[in-house]
Amino acid sequence: MTGPAWLSGESTDGTSVTGTARRSRVFAELWASVLVGTSYIPLRRDEVVDLLTELTDDLVTALLAEPFAPGPARAAGARLVAAHFTSGDSVERSVRIIGERLLPELGLTGVQPAARMTAVLGGFAAGYALGLRERVLSEQEAIHSAVLDARAEAEAALRASEAKFRAMFADAAIGIGIADRTGRVVEANSALLRMTGMTRPAVLASNVRDYVHPDDLADGLWDSFEHVCRGELDHYQVEKRLCRPDGGWVWAHVTCSLVRGDDGSPQFVVAVMEDVTERHALSERLRYQATHDPLTGLPNRSLFLDRLARVFAAGNDGGAAAGGRVGMCYLDLDGFKVINDSLGHAVGDRLLVSVARRLDEAIAGRGRLIARMGGDEFVVLVEGTTGTEDVVAIARTVLDALRAPVRIGGHELTVTASIGVVERPLAGTTSADLVRDADITQYWAKADGKGRWRVYDPERNAHEVGRFTLSAALPAAMDREEFFVEYQPLVRLRDERTVGVEALVRWMHPELGRLGPDRFIDLAEETGLIVPLGRWVLRTACRQARSWLDRFGSDAPFVSVNLAVRQSREPGIVDDVLAVLRDTGLPPHQLQLELTESAIMGTADEPLEALRRLADAGVRIAIDDFGTGYSNLAYLRHLPVTELKIAGSFVEGLRAAERSDPVDAQIVATLVALAHALDLTVTAEGVETPEQARRLRRIGCDSAQGW
Ligand code: C2E
Ligand code: CA
Ligand code: CA
Repeated sequence: MTGPAWLSGESTDGTSVTGTARRSRVFAELWASVLVGTSYIPLRRDEVVDLLTELTDDLVTALLAEPFAPGPARAAGARLVAAHFTSGDSVERSVRIIGERLLPELGLTGVQPAARMTAVLGGFAAGYALGLRERVLSEQEAIHSAVLDARAEAEAALRASEAKFRAMFADAAIGIGIADRTGRVVEANSALLRMTGMTRPAVLASNVRDYVHPDDLADGLWDSFEHVCRGELDHYQVEKRLCRPDGGWVWAHVTCSLVRGDDGSPQFVVAVMEDVTERHALSERLRYQATHDPLTGLPNRSLFLDRLARVFAAGNDGGAAAGGRVGMCYLDLDGFKVINDSLGHAVGDRLLVSVARRLDEAIAGRGRLIARMGGDEFVVLVEGTTGTEDVVAIARTVLDALRAPVRIGGHELTVTASIGVVERPLAGTTSADLVRDADITQYWAKADGKGRWRVYDPERNAHEVGRFTLSAALPAAMDREEFFVEYQPLVRLRDERTVGVEALVRWMHPELGRLGPDRFIDLAEETGLIVPLGRWVLRTACRQARSWLDRFGSDAPFVSVNLAVRQSREPGIVDDVLAVLRDTGLPPHQLQLELTESAIMGTADEPLEALRRLADAGVRIAIDDFGTGYSNLAYLRHLPVTELKIAGSFVEGLRAAERSDPVDAQIVATLVALAHALDLTVTAEGVETPEQARRLRRIGCDSAQGW
């Protein structure tokens, strides 16, 4: 092989190139070794090395040419493709080995080749890419030249190229059609006839535009074709539907290219079309499966979230949806778990399917998406609402649709749902807020009795968030001793002497300041913290009462301590109280425990038994807020009770004469008479004015308590 001119003599920057021929073959061997296996090649190994040696020479020519010209490097890239090295690996490995090894292997140590290496690699890669593209179009190129050939004058050549053209046309497994520049179809092979389901004469009488799917037209998918017809574009590829005269369509991967006449004007458009309907159907099916719940067929959570995100995106891009509103129903079936657990999952599944169907029948419509969020939770997304009432109407319809029982496998199941409704402007909210609030609201619907809808209420939410925060802070507040006790006098009306005090707990919250028991006692009951808190109040109050006893002797007031329902049901309550009395040294008759009616009445025997034991030990027992509960009078006489406390609400009516309520006065008088008949003392709460005190004394009430 006679090498190119640079193989002898010196290059311009002085690099020695003598003996490079052998070296380029060595590099080609190396190159061949990394290319092995990257593509299927119909060449023997030594043939590959021969080829790569030539390509190496091309690259070196480009590296050393003066002035610089990347042409040979491009050619090398294109030739690699022509030799069928067409995989991504082929080019990647080639670029790497050239970049890293070509200069050292060939002993090219000069500055200039190194500086040019990047440009040479770029040229090589560009040539490779062009080569690939040409390969894709090669079938068309062949047709292209055949068409041109067909126009040639020589009769023999015409026949030869016609034959070549026909053979390629007829045999191609891929659909090929030729249209003139008006779009009239002038040729179609049998594969294309099969794709379109049309006869040859019908196809030849058609125009390319007859195959346009209306949706694609709107989406501009056919614009490129018009550009090609006008000669503004030479090639394009697209995946689109071809309409068939039977009303169906096929998905086709279409490569179009323009054949120009001698004067460069557009003559024909050649389209190569591959039927990809099945591949398309498969990917559609996968997409559907990924976005739908297999049990009910409804859109699933991910499709819902996707749609929601798009609603918000459209609302925030200032487009048509700007200023729009959105609504949502969050629906959770009531008692579904019971059905599932007792009748089995098969029944549960069928119930879910039936609920899904009812939802769909009742409320499906434009701008509404019904989705299954998982388990027994469903959502309805409502776009373009005008107010809460729109979404409430949907919630009502849903509840109605679920009302009739569902018959499944011999069971007649009635299922209700709790629905959270949220409706608001898109601006100023996020999709996450919307979903969270709808979910919270659904819980309110459940808490308020199930089988109903509730509308999101920011105040209720703030209140509950506040409750939650307080509730979570309670245990630490106990540890940090943030509670304290205030004592309110109980004054004997006969002589206006303070005979007792009620211990009332307060919380000095580090941020919120002083909190009354109304803010935290029920939270403490819910969490159970009332037991240690109540024990602490009891101990504190008893210690205080003991110190008054030491100071005032027989004039010292007794202390009255509230006992929550939960405390009264603690198994160790009697021992607890007695231990506190013993530890603080307070005589039992100096302690009074206040219990509400509900803590005493209608409970099991145990708390009552506990009260008896405490009463037997000398502790006074009072019924708190008497008159507000069931006031089971018959029961009252069998209780170990020493005092009734009349709730402040009745005492309100005993204020100054002009604001007095005769019914309240009558009730208080009756309660006092009743208590005395049962040999109980009576304390009226909430006494704020001297007038009230005077009237209570006249009625015969024993003591009064209040501001
Ligand atoms: P209660 O047992 O009925 O306590 C009387 C409530 O009436 C107290 O409210 C007291 O401040 C209020 N009050 C007193 N005089 C007047 C008045 O003249 N007018 C009006 N309008 N109200 C008056 P407070 O302290 O907010 O306690 C509320 C409730 O919290 C108590 O109602 C009691 O049920 C509970 N509680 C307070 N401390 C404890 C405790 O240590 N343990 C338990 N379990 N509950 C407690
Ligand atoms: Ca009380
Ligand atoms: Ca009370």
